[in-house]
Amino acid sequence: MKIAFIGLGNMGAPMALNLTRAGHGVAGFDTAACPEGLDLAPSAAAAAADADVVITMLPNGDILRAVAAEVIPAMKPGAVFCDCSTVDVDSARAVADQARAAGLGALDAPVSGGIGGAQAGTLTFMVGGPDDAFATVKPLFDIMGQKAVHCGASGAGQAAKICNNMILGVTMIATCEAFALADKLGLDRQKMFDVVSTSSGYSWSMNAYCPAPGVGPASPADNGYKPGFAAELMLKDLNLSQAAAASAGADTPMGALARQLYDQFVTHEDGRGKDFSAMLPRFVEKNR
Ligand code: NAD
Repeated sequence: MKIAFIGLGNMGAPMALNLTRAGHGVAGFDTAACPEGLDLAPSAAAAAADADVVITMLPNGDILRAVAAEVIPAMKPGAVFCDCSTVDVDSARAVADQARAAGLGALDAPVSGGIGGAQAGTLTFMVGGPDDAFATVKPLFDIMGQKAVHCGASGAGQAAKICNNMILGVTMIATCEAFALADKLGLDRQKMFDVVSTSSGYSWSMNAYCPAPGVGPASPADNGYKPGFAAELMLKDLNLSQAAAASAGADTPMGALARQLYDQFVTHEDGRGKDFSAMLPRFVEKNR
């Protein structure tokens, strides 16, 4: 299969590399990054012109809409536009409508699993869009990930993603504030991990992405809180889930508080450019 991969950042580059290693021809494009090991095209439209599947992995819905407006007219009939970014449901549906009107397949297929999952090819894809487009791209999901769940029509993948990440933001904050409390109580962090990771407080934030350096499996905490998954991307996702909750009339008080804390951290403190697990040193600082 010929693939165009647009957006070769922390997530996109390793995902594209896995497709290349599996023997697919991949033409990459990014406005800034130029990772090694990938064939790069001079523009997004040039990368997409010959592709059976165009995959995008971009920062937000506005950028996705701009890239889609350039790329969709350049794609060949019957090809599939597959967006793996995390964006608002409205942008996902607008891009899917545009692709369908141009005679293309379209999927929203955001991912979970972080850069570790992108590198290892163990992402989870949550996918919205028609059955035939899902069937076309499924072999690629199987290379880049360990699971692809077809969630429903266009936008259903993004709905699943923002619900998942609202849980993630809340559990990361809870894990960080609990570690900072444990510090104040004189409890050793390794002991805290040993207990919680096998007790009812366990979560992905604790067990797979522990925010305490030197504790649990390797995570951004062991690398000076370099992202990983940046705090501003978590804030973006919490803004998306709160906007979706407001428009759907859903009560999400924990999501609202998590959004407020990440906004404080990114906008008014020193969280920008740090991993979202850097909430732990933030709480430690507050507790001094
Ligand atoms: P990133 O900032 O590392 O990568 C985004 C890339 O898009 C950058 O290299 C940037 O130069 C490129 N880009 C921006 N505008 C472009 C344009 N017009 N044309 C082509 N390229 C353009 O971000 P990331 O961490 O790779 O995240 C990408 C998406 O994946 C986001 O939507 C994010 O929410 C989502 N996501 C990230 C993680 C994670 O752990 N990092 C996990 C799950 C989902």
